[in-house]
Amino acid sequence: MDQQCIFCRIGTGDVPAELLYRDRSVFAIKDIAPRAPTHILVIPIEHYTDIAGSCSGSEQTLGRLIHVAGTLAKSQGLSEKGYRLVINQGDDGGQTVSHLHMHLLGGRRLGPEG
Ligand code: AMP
Ligand code: ZN
Repeated sequence: MDQQCIFCRIGTGDVPAELLYRDRSVFAIKDIAPRAPTHILVIPIEHYTDIAGSCSGSEQTLGRLIHVAGTLAKSQGLSEKGYRLVINQGDDGGQTVSHLHMHLLGGRRLGPEG
């Protein structure tokens, strides 16, 4: 838990968000600035800064993110037309929140870079 981290604070309930899913290791919220008709963030409860180093040894968590994102995509009706799962890593990757998270984007035809 990082007191300064917006996703940690959403995870504890200190900061409100539109929660779509929660279990023991991950939760999912609607993105506050959606870039597609469906834009969901799947976030580990534990604070991992990014995929580069902090989460080495947490393959299970990464697998869980993909699994939950896929389940949410199905429940959101995206299975047939498709969707995109994205992790932005570091500055060049466009990461703005330093707490590992996966974007689930869908509901429109996405361009090559979203
Ligand atoms: P990234 O740029 O990959 O780090 O993604 C961070 C995402 O978090 C962006 O799409 C933001 O719109 C989203 N975001 C930031 N603050 C909040 C918040 N309080 N509630 C929901 N989504 C947020
Ligand atoms: Zn955090």
